[in-house]
Amino acid sequence: MSLNFLPKRTAQGKISATALLISLCLSTQPAQAALTFNFTYLSPGQGFDDPTFGAARKLALNSAADLLGEYFVNYTATLDYDVTSSSVNESRLASAGSSYSVIPGTFQRTTVQTKILTNGATDSNYFAADGHIDWNFYENWGLSDSVAANEFDFKTVAIHELLHSFGFSSVVNQNGGGLEDKNTGTPDTWATFDKFLTNADGVSLINNAGVFAGSNVNALTSGSGSVLFNGQNAKDANGGVAVNLYAPTIFSPGSSISHLDDDTLALSELIMASSVSAGQKSRELSAIELGILRDIGYTQIVAPAEVPVPAAAWLMLSGLLGLVSFGRRKTAL
Ligand SMILES: [Zn+2]
Repeated sequence: MSLNFLPKRTAQGKISATALLISLCLSTQPAQAALTFNFTYLSPGQGFDDPTFGAARKLALNSAADLLGEYFVNYTATLDYDVTSSSVNESRLASAGSSYSVIPGTFQRTTVQTKILTNGATDSNYFAADGHIDWNFYENWGLSDSVAANEFDFKTVAIHELLHSFGFSSVVNQNGGGLEDKNTGTPDTWATFDKFLTNADGVSLINNAGVFAGSNVNALTSGSGSVLFNGQNAKDANGGVAVNLYAPTIFSPGSSISHLDDDTLALSELIMASSVSAGQKSRELSAIELGILRDIGYTQIVAPAEVPVPAAAWLMLSGLLGLVSFGRRKTAL
């Protein structure tokens, strides 16, 4: 998981000739990213538009979007985001989302998700932005690939937020209502993600008719292991069992159910956990996260290592991986 950062520092300078060769070879590959992100910054003079720090923040957001785009090379879409910013002393680092169509008794993709999965053919909200992001710049942010221990990893958090807009998100509220906040037992509108929710006994929280059973409401606030994601791809990546979602005993609107469970050790450091500590984090999606994305419709998603490259480039990549391992062992000494 730390392959991204530790080796770079130790290997620097010692392998410069080889590294240069590798980077030249890689840079001659055609651009792979097939998703295009257009960010419109709506908080003049502050945050991303700050006269001193704004340019670097925008660069970091674009860089994170490109990293995420590497998983989506088999899709082609231009995604428009409205981006706002704030500076508030609170626990929220950032938030993001994308709208849904409301049709009772159905599971809906987000506008961003629809656009990606139709390769740009369907823009559910026409001229309005497809998604939105709000960033809290109160905290110290590490914008580069070397994040200090007292900084939050901007790129990791940006990937996390973008994935919410891609549909890695629940709309279940604490009463068991959906987008329309209907009473349990009544068809409501849900996110595609919600189709895969079960309780600890493996019973779906919401049936195929879009009805949340009242008997499942308690599960939403029953802690680790009480609400799970049971999509087949996610299970395949998780040893055959459904994946624990974040379901704290006090419901946290916008956070409960929409994240992996931080209290499950194997999930706590993954990008889609509900919280993140300061310091350098992984920007790589885990097999479990990729499985969930496949389950919610992104069947063509690829881990970057799976992207086909010419044989010569494979050799170079192998060489690079070898150096990375070497650097890592050195660091561990
Ligand atoms: Zn989140």
